[in-house]
Amino acid sequence: MPRPQKSRLVNEPPVFTEFKPAGIGSRFIDTIILSIDEYEALRLADFEGMSHEQAAEEMQISRPTFTRLLDSAHAKVAQMLVQGKRLVIQGGNVDFRYSIVKCANCGQMFRIPFGQTLDACPNCGSTNLIYLGQPHGGRHGMHHRRGKGRGRRF
Ligand SMILES: [Zn+2]
Repeated sequence: MPRPQKSRLVNEPPVFTEFKPAGIGSRFIDTIILSIDEYEALRLADFEGMSHEQAAEEMQISRPTFTRLLDSAHAKVAQMLVQGKRLVIQGGNVDFRYSIVKCANCGQMFRIPFGQTLDACPNCGSTNLIYLGQPHGGRHGMHHRRGKGRGRRF
C-alpha cells in the first residue's frame, strides 16, 4: 500500500494547463499527465533557476523528494516533445499559497491569498470571476454575486 503523501506547497495554480502538438487530430495523440507538484518543481528549478535545496525548501519537501519530482517532470516533458504527446497539468497532492482569479469579462488575472475571494474584478467590476486550479471554476461561487462593490484593489 502506498503511504500517504505529505502535501507539497505550490505557489499558485498553473495558468496554462494543456499543450498539444500542432497539426494532428486529438484522437491520435496520447496524453501525459504532469502533476501540479511536478510542474512546480520544473518552474522553480528550470524557470526560476533555483537550486534544488532552495526549491525543496520552497515546496516544503525533502531534497531527494524534490529531485525525484524534477526528474519525473523532465522525463514527461521530453516524451511530450520527442513523441508529440499532449500534456495536461493537473492533480498531485498540493496546497497553494495563492489563487489566481481570472475575470471572464476583461481577461485580467489577479493573485490573491489562497482561500480568499474577490467580490468583483478590480479592473472592470465584473462579478464573472474564475478561480484557476479549482474544479468547476472555484467553490467560492456563492460569494460572487454579493453586493455591487468595485472589489478590493491590489
Ligand atoms: Zn474584469
